[in-house]
Formats: sequence, structure tokens, C-alpha cells
Amino acid sequence: NRQFILARRPQGMPTHEDVKLVQSAVPSPSQGQVLLRTLYLSLDPYMRGRMDDTPSYSPPLALGDVIVGGTVCRVEKSHHDKFREGDLVLAYGGWQDYALSDGSGLQKLDPAMPRPSMALGVLGMPGFTGYMGLMDIGQPKAGETVVVAAASGAVGSVVGQVAKLQGCRVVGIAGGEEKCRYIKEELGFDAAIDHRAANFPVLLQAACPQGIDVYYENVGGAVFDAVFPLLNTSARIPVCGMISQYNGARDTQMQDRLPLLMGTILKKRMRVQGFIIGMDYGPRYPEFYQAMSGWLQQGKITFREDVVEGLENALDAFCGLLEGKNFGKLIVKVAE
Ligand code: NDP
Repeated sequence: NRQFILARRPQGMPTHEDVKLVQSAVPSPSQGQVLLRTLYLSLDPYMRGRMDDTPSYSPPLALGDVIVGGTVCRVEKSHHDKFREGDLVLAYGGWQDYALSDGSGLQKLDPAMPRPSMALGVLGMPGFTGYMGLMDIGQPKAGETVVVAAASGAVGSVVGQVAKLQGCRVVGIAGGEEKCRYIKEELGFDAAIDHRAANFPVLLQAACPQGIDVYYENVGGAVFDAVFPLLNTSARIPVCGMISQYNGARDTQMQDRLPLLMGTILKKRMRVQGFIIGMDYGPRYPEFYQAMSGWLQQGKITFREDVVEGLENALDAFCGLLEGKNFGKLIVKVAE
């Protein structure tokens, strides 16, 4: 059983000294347990936070723990009356070939799902996040301008397409020409801006002639700096993620801009709200699933998966995610 464990807490980008691939015996399930074979492992930005020993919404990983992660698994052996060998389940098996489960949190996959990996992306946690943050906190109205960063990714691509379905003008921010072309031409965004362009703030302003009504925050840092002056009175800002900060990046030029930020929130009567999908919206998953499966069937939403072969490549792929090297929902294919 190959496992990636946290051997040391990373400083900045994780290395193979921090997150080590080790071997252990395949465990045997006892009564009431199942043995799960990982088929697909989801790689998500939050995993970086779990490697740090800082207070957060979930406790940090301990040294020696297997790195956590959502998985699609096949039940390999079952001593549990609700699961049979061969069942495909959504699990939280982590970065390893095999995991044990007592059945809690295991969900059998909908047999109607065209591909099991979709349970980790467009029909799973990231899709749910994009949908709820936009609809419940962003509250987009037809004709408004919605801006989303990391727009070609698992969350951002859903945010932008759902905002289009609400009749909004949608501006996506993404890294590089290829991702920008994809969000405009294949996802139907109205405009796409490359955050690495030298004149990025000017390009963003030109793409938002009516200002910004909803800014779906995935990134923080320089992207937020460019968005901030364009926010309209009564703007809504679902704060979903801050990926530019996850490796501990600090802007050395940074002055204390908190008074400006708070003053602007007051004067423009903005709503800024953070959320953690499972904690804030868990029970509303069926509502999302129904809406999203319908849109997928009707071809109103499309998605892209970036599938990396082999568990041994998980750490390198994960580091790539923190640098924008993934293109679409990042998934590791662990076994057939
Ligand atoms: P993505 O598939 O979008 O991949 C991450 C992307 O972030 C990269 O491809 C890159 O895109 C972009 N990025 C990385 N570093 C920077 C940077 N310094 N500046 C600008 N963009 C950067 O990931 P997800 O869709 O899974 O996650 C998106 C966000 O949503 C993350 O912040 C994540 O933490 C958050 N999230 C929050 C949840 C919640 O419950 N609150 C749940 C799920 C996700 P590009 O090349 O375009 O720059």
C-alpha cells in the first residue's frame, strides 16, 4: 500500500522531504469495515493548509499522517452490511492505494453518472462550492457583472457558467492565453483576462465598463488589488479561497490597507462573506446535484478534467496546482 505522509511541515512549496511516499501493508477490514481501493484521488488547494500547524476550520494533519483527500474507490472487501464488493463509492481515503472505512461518510455513486471522476469535480465538492458561493452569497442578477479568478479551474469554471445562466456579464481571470481562450470560447464567458499580463489592472477595467457587482474570490493578492477599485456599491464578495497566499507568499511592498478596505466596504455597503462548503452548505448538496446534473445533460455546462496517471505523481501534480500548471479539475488516476 503506497501512501503519501506528512513527514515535515513545508515552508513554502511542499517538497518530497515534506511529503514522503512510503510503503505499508494493505490493511484488512474487521467486522463493520470495508477495504477501499483508490481509483481516483482529487487534488485540491485546501490540502496545503492541512500541512501547516496553524489554526483553521479543520485541525492540521499530524506528522506521519496520510495526506487527506477525496477519492473515488471500489469496495475491494466488505464486512459491512451496506456495501458489497465491487461497489463504487465516494470516500475520503486520502493519498494512498488502499484505505479502511467503517462506512461513515461513504456515498455510493449514482450509476447514472457518466464518469466516476465527475464525483470529485463538476458534480462533487468543487462544483458544489462554485454553485453555492455564487448563488447564495453572490446572489447574481441578470445584467450584473460577475468576475471570477482561477476561472478555468474546478470551482471558477462552474461559477462563470452558472453566472452566465443567470444572465450576467461574466469576466474570467486566468493564467495564460490557452486558459483565457478556453473560458471565452468553450465556456462562453464574455471576457477573459490574463492576470500575468503586465497591464492586467487596465485590461480588467476595460472588460468591466459597468464596474463589478459580484467578485467571486478564489485567489487574493494582486488579483484582488486590481478588482478592488472596480467594485460597485452593494457589491457581493463570496470569499471562497486565497490560493495566492497558501504557500505563505507575502507582498513585501504591502502597506496597511485595512482602513481603506474597511472604509470602502462601509461606504459602498458591500457584503463580504467567507464560507466553507461542507460546514455551511452540506445539507444542500442534493439541490446542487439536481441542478447541475440537469445542466450537464442539457449541455449547458461543460467541464474539463486534468488527469494525472499514477499515485506516485500526486505531490508533483499538487505543487503544479499551486502554480497554475493544472488546466481543469486536477485528479490523479490511481488504478483502473
Ligand atoms: P483550480 O482548479 O482553480 O486550480 C488552482 C488555480 O489557481 C490554478 O490553476 C491557477 O490558475 C490559480 N492560481 C494559483 N496561484 C495563483 C496566483 N498566485 N494568482 C492567481 N491565480 C493563481 O482550483 P479549485 O477550483 O479547486 O479551487 C479554487 C479556489 O477555491 C481555491 O482558492 C480553493 O482553496 C477554493 N476552494 C474553497 C472551498 C471552500 O469551501 N471555501 C472549497 C473548494 C475550493 P491560473 O493558471 O488561472 O492562474
